[in-house]
Amino acid sequence: MKVLVINAGSSSLKYQLIQTDTGEVLAKGLCERIGIGGSKLTYKPTGKGKYETQKDMKDHTEAISMVIRALSDPETGVVRSMDEIDAVGHRLVHGGEAFSEAALITDEMLRVLEALCELAPLHNPANLMGIRACQTIMPNVPMVGVFDTAFHQTMPPEAFLYGLPYEAYTDLQVRRYGFHGISHSFISQEAIAKLDKPAEETRVITCHLGNGSSMSAIKGGKSVDNSMGFTPLPGVTMGTRCGDIDPAIVIYLMDKLNLDTVGINAYLNKQCGVQGISGVSSDFRDLWTAAEEGNRRAELALRIFAYHVKRYIGAYAAVLGGVDAIVFSAGVGENDSGIRALAMEGLEYLGVDMDYKRNETLPRGEEGEISKPGSKVKVFVIPTDEELVIAKETARLAAK
Ligand code: ADP
Repeated sequence: MKVLVINAGSSSLKYQLIQTDTGEVLAKGLCERIGIGGSKLTYKPTGKGKYETQKDMKDHTEAISMVIRALSDPETGVVRSMDEIDAVGHRLVHGGEAFSEAALITDEMLRVLEALCELAPLHNPANLMGIRACQTIMPNVPMVGVFDTAFHQTMPPEAFLYGLPYEAYTDLQVRRYGFHGISHSFISQEAIAKLDKPAEETRVITCHLGNGSSMSAIKGGKSVDNSMGFTPLPGVTMGTRCGDIDPAIVIYLMDKLNLDTVGINAYLNKQCGVQGISGVSSDFRDLWTAAEEGNRRAELALRIFAYHVKRYIGAYAAVLGGVDAIVFSAGVGENDSGIRALAMEGLEYLGVDMDYKRNETLPRGEEGEISKPGSKVKVFVIPTDEELVIAKETARLAAK
């Protein structure tokens, strides 16, 4: 099956066309600055170069129609016509408690997604725009929604409830939802397949460390905890998001910096994390360069980030009653051997016997084991592939 995977943001739209039986990416790309002028389409057919088209796209529907035109272009396209696209898979951020797995997109689903916009005001409305645009351009193609929250719906109440009045949960849906579930599910399954143990008995800690970062405790293949919460803001400190902080800080800063709710939201999401600590960058490559040049705040940012990862490993090892595997993934987890080394230092008591040399020499973006062969706890680097998971889920559901 050929599945078009769509990840729609408010002014951007990432896409990949995937042949699901082989996992081959036929083409991928990005629409940027949708609806805000100066729009650009990037189109990369696999093995055939990269093309850019500057043309204003007033909304997501125009963006999708440009994507389809690029994919079916007589010279640089990868399909003869739109009819070759068998299904569309949408990455959806928030499925609340309504979705514990991917589902076919129906009118009823759209109504539920609308209602969930309140819980994810930055993401769900944009996801809906992506769906509606595809429905307009490709009305007869089956569509599937794959959620970032769904995998974490197996968390027990002690993990997902906060120390708030119970009514905050029952009346206002305030609870931990957890995010990056598509990735945590994929990398944990890959790790479990490498363990010499029945899947139901496995205890895995997954570290999805990118621009946004989250960690998960996974027991018998099911998520039992995730470091993100009601929103993707808490957990380990991130590129520009604060991660865990004392909630009273929010009130204090609103008062001291004279910020309203919009202002504090932007502050906590865009000005914090390693960017805020270092004052240098949210990109870990820049941080290492600055640290090597003697920038103390950049070095501190790296140490704080790695410390948070270690702290969650400790917490989740306790939650799981031991660990069989720790998995690193995403931009930082796959590429940054320095962060991996800092986070894993001193975990021998848990049964981790790191191969630091292997950690350092593992080629970037490649899968590998970075613990020693006899290590009780296996440590893996496993590149995540969220688009492939979405494409496969979509193909499975669309075939029904
Ligand atoms: P997103 O959360 O946006 O999906 P990614 O998982 O793609 O993010 O991760 C992006 C981050 O990965 C970058 O901000 C950068 O800090 C980090 N990164 C990418 N390549 C490297 C590298 N070679 N070394 C260290 N960090 C890297």
